[in-house]
Amino acid sequence: MKTKLIGKNSEQLAAIAADCGLRPFVGRQIAEWLYVKRVGSWDRMTNISKDSKARLQESCELGTSGPAGSAVSSDGTVKYLFTVGEHNAVEAVMIPDEDRKTLCVSSQAGCRMGCRFCMTGRQGWHGNLDAGDILNQFVSIPGSQELTNAVFMGMGEPLDNYEAVSQAIDILTSDKGFGWSPKRITLSTIGVLPVLERFLDGQRCHLAVSLHNPFPDERLGMMPVQKAWPLEDIVALLRRYDFSGQRRVSFEYTMFSGWNDTKRHADALVRLLSGLECRVNLIRFHKIPDFPYDCAPAVRMEEFRDRLTKHGVVCTIRASRGEDILAACGMLAGQRS
Ligand code: SF4
Repeated sequence: MKTKLIGKNSEQLAAIAADCGLRPFVGRQIAEWLYVKRVGSWDRMTNISKDSKARLQESCELGTSGPAGSAVSSDGTVKYLFTVGEHNAVEAVMIPDEDRKTLCVSSQAGCRMGCRFCMTGRQGWHGNLDAGDILNQFVSIPGSQELTNAVFMGMGEPLDNYEAVSQAIDILTSDKGFGWSPKRITLSTIGVLPVLERFLDGQRCHLAVSLHNPFPDERLGMMPVQKAWPLEDIVALLRRYDFSGQRRVSFEYTMFSGWNDTKRHADALVRLLSGLECRVNLIRFHKIPDFPYDCAPAVRMEEFRDRLTKHGVVCTIRASRGEDILAACGMLAGQRS
């Protein structure tokens, strides 16, 4: 099997070039083509000689591949389908905003966390993406250079595939990679406790935690992860870190009518997050088949927001994007043959 070059950092690419009998500099040139110029074809790498390319191609491949399909929402959101390996497919969603273009990336084919309200969770887990599969979602979409931000909120639980996700973030934030500030990246997690600590110690990008219900027994009914890594322990860990400066933590709270949208829930949320520098994002639930709850009515979401705000918790209702192309939160499913 050939060595895949996308997903390797500049130093690793230099070492691969040296192993092929080339100057390490050639590896650094490839890093520049892949990550700075976002060029994913040998033909367009014009400053690398034919001979060098031929030697590299004996044992290596770029590993880039364009989307296998795409769908455009009426709000401008674009969903891309990528083939991963022989049998899996994942989705990435480009969300345009006034002065931003954010890519919501996938980190796994499917997911093993089993949240009952999530289409990805229903699929089960079919494999991890490597760092190259993750970065290919950035490099191979049309208009890659216009991307300004990234959220690891697509398919999969990023902290369940942390080696690859961490390597991808390192390349996104490296001067010899994309050169992005960590402030442009948000990792969203359900809270894989032991790995969360590694992430907080090792990375500087923003964190979003999927909370959804402040009561442990109710949360457990919808999110099996609560049993292994209780929300209370996650919040206790977060209290040891400083979120008053560059790095922010937010809590994602999808609103289900009659399950988590009452005053009792709002008050418990205020107590749980008391004194923690954070924000709560309320998210509309997008109905999925065979699921008993609907989205909370807009007026109840506003009341919930106002109650949190009144008690000093910064809270916003997040605009929903890409619902008509099944690209909104919890709707990504990819395809699998
Ligand atoms: Fe996995 Fe996130 Fe879906 Fe839960 S919500 S099943 S962690 S992708």
